Amino acid sequence: MTAVDAALIPVVGLEIHAQLLTRSKMFCSCSADYSGALPNTHCCPICTGMPGSLPVINARALELGVLTALALNCEVPEWSKFDRKNYSYPDLPKGYQISQYDDPIGRNGHIDFRSGDQLMRWGISRVHLEEDTGKTLHIDEHGREASLVDYNRSGVPLMEIVTTPEEVSPAEARDFFESLRQVLMYLGVSDGNLQEGSLRADVNVSLRPRDGSLGTKVEVKNLNSFRALERALEYEISRQGDLLRAGATIEQETRGWSERDERTLSQRSKEYAHDYRYFPEPDLPPLHIRRELLSRLSDQLPELPAARLARFEQEYGVAPEVARVLTQERALASYFEEAVQRGSDLAPPTLANWLRNDVLRILGEKGQTIEDIPVRPGDLAGLVGLVQGGTISASAGKQVLEEMFRTGEDAESIVARLDLAQVADQNALEALVDHVLTSQPGLVETYRRGKTNVLQAIVGQVMKASKGKANPAVVRGIVQSRLDTG
Ligand code: ZN
Ligand code: MN
Repeated sequence: MTAVDAALIPVVGLEIHAQLLTRSKMFCSCSADYSGALPNTHCCPICTGMPGSLPVINARALELGVLTALALNCEVPEWSKFDRKNYSYPDLPKGYQISQYDDPIGRNGHIDFRSGDQLMRWGISRVHLEEDTGKTLHIDEHGREASLVDYNRSGVPLMEIVTTPEEVSPAEARDFFESLRQVLMYLGVSDGNLQEGSLRADVNVSLRPRDGSLGTKVEVKNLNSFRALERALEYEISRQGDLLRAGATIEQETRGWSERDERTLSQRSKEYAHDYRYFPEPDLPPLHIRRELLSRLSDQLPELPAARLARFEQEYGVAPEVARVLTQERALASYFEEAVQRGSDLAPPTLANWLRNDVLRILGEKGQTIEDIPVRPGDLAGLVGLVQGGTISASAGKQVLEEMFRTGEDAESIVARLDLAQVADQNALEALVDHVLTSQPGLVETYRRGKTNVLQAIVGQVMKASKGKANPAVVRGIVQSRLDTG
């Protein structure tokens, strides 16, 4: 970095839109699940904006929005309202979007998250509810161009989360967005699907001279992956830096991210709030958020990923990297805790490693998630107990786990059925060792001539003779004492 670079500080803000996981749309009873549906089959006069139709607020969408606001440490006012945001797009049949302008359901919150080893806090300036638009499809058939519109998505409940502008790096912004997505998924309010656009992020970025005030911000839209978010920020910071150093000014505009070209491209000059001619939605009454609802939702708040991660480290002694993986999904974290409770005599870090390394590997190979797992948490604890107690070897344990995935049986039944229990019986093992030593006098000879590393080969022979069921540590002890005394 040049000295000039160091004097320009990036300031980043995010606007996140998340489709809420409700059954029906925001203001009508049409199904909100439009995936796979034929175009324009989930529509009614309300979500297609027919004159005279009246919206009704979806109570579940309000609950999910308020739950999110609480989880993000926002103030939730007792009174809120909806407003009309006017703009005309073909996929917005009413000519306006019902949104919230100056009385959102949440404001002044924050979220604590980790970036590398650092614990960071990012401010949430607001959380509000609105509705999604339809989808336009531009086609070109036999040289005839046409635009088609599908209103199935029109009116699907949407929650918008706006952060405060913060002086952060692109990597920190990415870590923040990953954490926020995780929170939304823990809450069960969003499916977090960036590829399909049910969760989408726009970023605002400007450069501030070290001794100056905020620069002009540029918005970048259509970031449908964490990587795109980080790369788009890196690109914009360097583009704006070049312009400023050349003495040019930054235009306030909206740019798009081109995945193919790895660059941002100008789309349109940015609208200002007054362009939208916001006014209170006359078809909806003011929104009263009852305090009883707040306390009921507060009681429903789950432990959030950052808190759970810290607890896994402190309470169970799980390594930070493993704890991070285990808390990525709420169901996985709960699975781990249930296994810990079922296997109370087991070391939690050992269970954590089995889950993180072996269980997740098998799930990955099968293309499954923890929700699909046929192995009950208690049965995983049972398996780890058998390995830890020496009943089966670690490698037999992995074989048993595969079998548990296949049949859903518990570990003990599989060990019995496949006859995998280690032979730890001293007499039986001594007999095996003696058999190997008498049948391989050459090995003993070599050992006595001082090549003591042949010991490992002898142990290997005994393990082979036991068909892998001998306890290697016990075998080693017997071989050693036979060679030294014999
Ligand atoms: Zn409808
Ligand atoms: Mn919005």
